[in-house]
Formats: sequence, C-alpha cells, structure tokens
Amino acid sequence: MQGPIIILGAGQAGVQIADSLRQENYTGRIILIGDEPYGPYQRPPLSKDFLAGTVTQDQLALRTPEMLAKKNIEFLPSTRAASVDLAARTVSLADGQALAFEGLAFATGCRARPLPVPGADLPGVFTLRGIDDTLRIAAALKTAQNVAVIGGGFIGLEIAATCRGFGKNVTVVETADRLMARAVSPVISQWFLEHHRKQGVRVVLEAKAVGIREQDGGTAGVELAGGEFIPADMVVIGIGIIQNSELAKEAGLGCKGGIVVDACARTSHPGVAAAGDCTVRLLPDGRSLALESVQNAMEQAKSAAAALMGRERPFTACPWFWSDQYEVKLQMAGLSAGYDRIVIRGSQEDGAFSAFYFRDGTMLGSDSVNQPKDHMATRRMLDKNLGPTPEQAADSAFNFQTLLK
Ligand code: ADP
Repeated sequence: MQGPIIILGAGQAGVQIADSLRQENYTGRIILIGDEPYGPYQRPPLSKDFLAGTVTQDQLALRTPEMLAKKNIEFLPSTRAASVDLAARTVSLADGQALAFEGLAFATGCRARPLPVPGADLPGVFTLRGIDDTLRIAAALKTAQNVAVIGGGFIGLEIAATCRGFGKNVTVVETADRLMARAVSPVISQWFLEHHRKQGVRVVLEAKAVGIREQDGGTAGVELAGGEFIPADMVVIGIGIIQNSELAKEAGLGCKGGIVVDACARTSHPGVAAAGDCTVRLLPDGRSLALESVQNAMEQAKSAAAALMGRERPFTACPWFWSDQYEVKLQMAGLSAGYDRIVIRGSQEDGAFSAFYFRDGTMLGSDSVNQPKDHMATRRMLDKNLGPTPEQAADSAFNFQTLLK
C-alpha cells in the first residue's frame, strides 16, 4: 500500500486505525477526517464524569493534535466528507475539495436517534452523543430542577444517575416493561430499577412519550400516551442510535443498518475497511451483530488497519461492555441472547453479584454488578472456550482460576 489512506471519522475507531497503520509499518500518508472541531476524544465519560464535572475536556482527549502530528497523521478537524467515489478513489469534502486515496476506512460512528414527537426540537430538549451535547446539557442543568429522561437504556440511566448526583428531580420514561432490555436480562433490569428508585429517581415503565409541551419558548414537560404529564424544565432523549452509514451506502458499500463488515473489518469493496459504531458484523451463521462499545471500536480498528495492509486479523475476542450508574459498575461479557438458564453468584441484597447465562449447560456470558473479578474471569474463560458449569458459577467459593490454569 503506497497510500494515501483516508480515514473518515476521528473517534475511537478512526484514531486507532491510524495508530495501528503506523504499527503495521505503513509509512505512506494517513489523512484522518473528523467533522467535530475537537481532536479524538473518549465518549464514555460524556454521560458520567464529564457531565458531572469531575473530568475535564482535556482529560477526554485520546490524542492531542501534537501526538497525531508526531506520527505523521494528517488530522483535518471540522471537516465533512460529502461523498465517496470508490471507482475514482476520491473523497469529496463538503467544501468541494477532492482527496485521492488508495485505501479507505469508514469510522463514521453513529448519532442519537431522534424522538419523532411534537416539541422534540424545543430548546431544553437534548440528545447526547458528543462533547457539545454534554456542554449544552450541563449548562441547562445549572438552572433546571426537574429533568425528564426519555429512554431507560445505558445513556438514559447514566444521565439520570448523574442528574440525581446534582440533586435534580429525575423521571425516566421507558417504553419497554423493564430497563436496559436490549442488553441485559430481567434480573439485572429489576436490580437497577430498584436501585434507581432507591436513589430517588422516578421510573415510569411501559410509557410512551407522545409530545413535549412548550412553555415560554422552553420546555414544560413530557406528555405520555394515556394522558399523564411529567413536568420538566429540561428533557434528555436517549432512545438508541442510528449508524452513520449513509455515505458508505451512497458509495455502493453493502449496508444493513450499519456498514456490513466481516470479522476482519473488510467491507464489500476491496481496499475499503470499516470499524466501530458505524458497522454491523456479519457472523458465519448469517446473523448480523452490531456492537456499540469501546472494545469493538478498538478491535475492529486494529483489524481494519491490518486489512488495509492486506493482512487478515479477525476480531474473535469475547465482546464486553460496561455502564457506570451512581457508584455501581455494571459489566457485561459475552453475548447472552438465547440463554436457557441464569444462575446468580454473590448477593443481590449487597449489590455485589453476577448473573451467569447458560445454554445447554454452556456458559454464554455474564452480567456483573460491582463484581469486576467475575467479569474478568468470564472474559478470560470465553476467550479460551472454557466455562464453569451452572453449579460452579453459582458457588461463590468456586474459584474460576482453577479452570483457567
Ligand atoms: P442508548 O445507547 O441510547 O442508551 P439503548 O438501546 O441502550 O440505547 O436504550 C434505549 C432505550 O430507549 C431502550 O430501553 C428503549 O426501549 C427505549 N426507548 C426507545 N424508544 C423510546 C421512546 N419513544 N420512549 C421511551 N423509551 C424509548
């Protein structure tokens, strides 16, 4: 590969592709294009420590522009790619400029899913995806007392917890009959429901927001189907994401919601890779898997860099995720969908336990609440195709290390 290699998107995945290309001894030009004015930064703290004010914007930085320059990575901030011509091998920028490439990587991420109800565009209604969003939410929190959060997934609950930390009155509105239903089992949902209620958050399940009511040019609150009205000075919407795959789709790449990639982060077009939240991975059994996580961004980015260098580096490690709410650390390992048995290890009352998931006696994964050791052990076991029996998992005295030795 002579280059240049263009990377679209300067988030966790984009910057990791650039770094990994240098580690792969690629010496040609790397052009890293990002539409935000900031250098690459960490997103997980945006709904937690950064919103709480305990982490500064500088501390979010993944790489400073100087660090990028040192590795000879040409970083173009505040720059939007408008179109990609795969046959001509050019990227056209929003300002009309065309850049030629030999290799191309999409790391365009995702955006917050909008809530299609009247009033969703009022001032005082927010979504959270980037630094600017957090800054806007933090500014509004200075004067707001009543906060409504629409969506009881990770983002919504993390924001709810942070707002409670500021002493705000918080109501969470969730359409499903339990929290974080997409990602965790009912046991975990129930524990978090009780925990949020204990912390003073009002959680309304099976509730559909049908509108946001205006007052004096701002927000008065959220109207629910069925007529209930939740007064709120500000509303934060966290109802999931939409992958930024339009550019890739228009260029002719295979997309299925996200940009379709294989385990080696290769797209349907030779010489074009994709990594991170914008992708959906095609599994050997025909299913497709979309993972929004730091690990997925990092691993796919390493695979993408290898793929651009003509090498196969499949990402096969056990998937893992986390969410911090209050002082509680929720850590998830493996893909537990399709389980036929759950066993609990530890104490739900003490807020230190794990749920282990099994199918036909084989461990699929675990969700841990303040039990990082269980989480790490699960990851290590799954990476080695090992696992405890349900009885071993349920027995806190059983040491997983005996399986790992
Ligand atoms: P995120 O990463 O944005 O938190 P998740 O998928 O983890 O995304 O969570 C989104 C949550 O929002 C889900 O629990 C989903 O049931 C909920 N949800 C989706 N649409 C609505 C809606 N219109 N009103 C309330 N909750 C919603």
